Amino acid sequence: MTQLVLSSIFGVFTYEKRRGRESNPRIAVLQTATLPLGYPAGCSADNIVVATVVSSAERRYIGTTLQHFNASTNPTIVAVVTKSAELFARARKRIPGGVNSPVRAFRNVEGEPFFVGRGEGARIWDVDGNEYIDYVGSWGPAVLGHAPKVVVDGVRDAATRGLSFGVPNPLEVEMAELICDWMPSIEKVRMVNSGTEAAMSGIRLARAFTARDKIIKFDGCYHGHADPLLVKAGSGALTHGQPSSAGVPRAFADLTISLPFNNLELVRKAFQENKNEIAALIVEPIPANAGLYFPRKNFLSALRKECANNGALLIFDEVITGFRLARGGAQGLYGVKPDLTALGKIIGGGLPVGAFGGRAEIMDQLSPDGPVYQAGTLSGNPLALAAGLAQLRELERIDGWKLLDELGAQFEAVARDAVKSAKIDITFHRLGSLFCLFFASGPIVDLAGAQRSDLKVFTRFFHGCLKRGVYFAPSQFETGFISTAHTPEDIERTAGVVREALASL
Ligand code: PLP
Repeated sequence: MTQLVLSSIFGVFTYEKRRGRESNPRIAVLQTATLPLGYPAGCSADNIVVATVVSSAERRYIGTTLQHFNASTNPTIVAVVTKSAELFARARKRIPGGVNSPVRAFRNVEGEPFFVGRGEGARIWDVDGNEYIDYVGSWGPAVLGHAPKVVVDGVRDAATRGLSFGVPNPLEVEMAELICDWMPSIEKVRMVNSGTEAAMSGIRLARAFTARDKIIKFDGCYHGHADPLLVKAGSGALTHGQPSSAGVPRAFADLTISLPFNNLELVRKAFQENKNEIAALIVEPIPANAGLYFPRKNFLSALRKECANNGALLIFDEVITGFRLARGGAQGLYGVKPDLTALGKIIGGGLPVGAFGGRAEIMDQLSPDGPVYQAGTLSGNPLALAAGLAQLRELERIDGWKLLDELGAQFEAVARDAVKSAKIDITFHRLGSLFCLFFASGPIVDLAGAQRSDLKVFTRFFHGCLKRGVYFAPSQFETGFISTAHTPEDIERTAGVVREALASL
């Protein structure tokens, strides 16, 4: 059945075009309403798979053939026969939601994901051969663009010497020294395999070090999917309307206090009401998981002071900002020294990596020196560290942060210009290579502000850009990422696409 579907792609597409129906260049769409007119050559109701539906009520039919339907009973069934759609139909049968991380499912933009075939520089190509300028960049790690030669060479070189040993390797020392050198608040660091692990381990360590249980976080900040941190979280948790996950025991959630970002008064109140109970306050210094917004002047330094006054540790989650915004991360930019820092993404160059580190007296509580257990079979993996080291050294060699800021500034100038001509409320935020277009009026300084965005308009904007070859994150509550591989021409072209997409809303 699968082969028949694939071999009939062109037949269906031609059939659609001939009747002047929807002919999106990315997908060939066949509505059941058209079926009584006859199937294209090679197609019949039992070899066309339902890969997407117009109404979510029909989702249960995805992955089945069209033979059970006809226009009068199911006018909303749509068969899509691109390779991406066919892969997604297969994926939905064997992978929950068809994806291995929720936001990839495109649910928030009422769509279906494309499957990527390859990436190079600022571009990705889907398995049907469509090209996109990519502003997702694997959600942050691809700071040099896709498949940069230095990183690929580094991985290839490391791979020839073995993939994983479970005994120390020299790259672990090199990475630890580099991180401590670039982020002076970090005196010792431990490698893990994801940002989730980094934040989760940092919380455990803070609880042990302070002998306290409660933590403070901020609404809309995302720190991975560990139990204590999935309370009013951002990113995919927010996108899918479940900022507090099922399966997190009430007792765990009760130990997490989540507050509006940028509200110092409530932070002070929380410390007063929970005297000697707060182990740590964890924060994305620049929240980038509910769109992108910024700390008010002195907010981060005030958090530093509150933590010190109350015997709690300050944890900066720099999984996104670390080594993307500046050589010293957001803490370098704002001049605030946290006790612990979580890192990820960029330090793995696209391979699975995270790290957490901070003051030596705290880090020394970790096993085997101290009583806090933390471990990982693949932690410090030589391939991941080779990729990360190659990427970080290249960033430094080319002064990547200056280049990223220049590209970001160009993007901001042309995007603001495009936005000005649109007759809708848009708030544009940018810092360095991070940006976000909120479909809401400003100012936006917290999650509540971000949630004022018009998600329906965002959805139309997203698809307007995608079909014109520009891939922005498929959610209003994510941040855009520019890489050093984006050229001024790419950015000009993107501005044209943004202008057209806005004009067509
Ligand atoms: N912390 C922040 C700030 C993040 O943005 C993310 C992921 O996007 C995480 C933690 C979790 O990282 P991972 O997805 O690698 O587990």
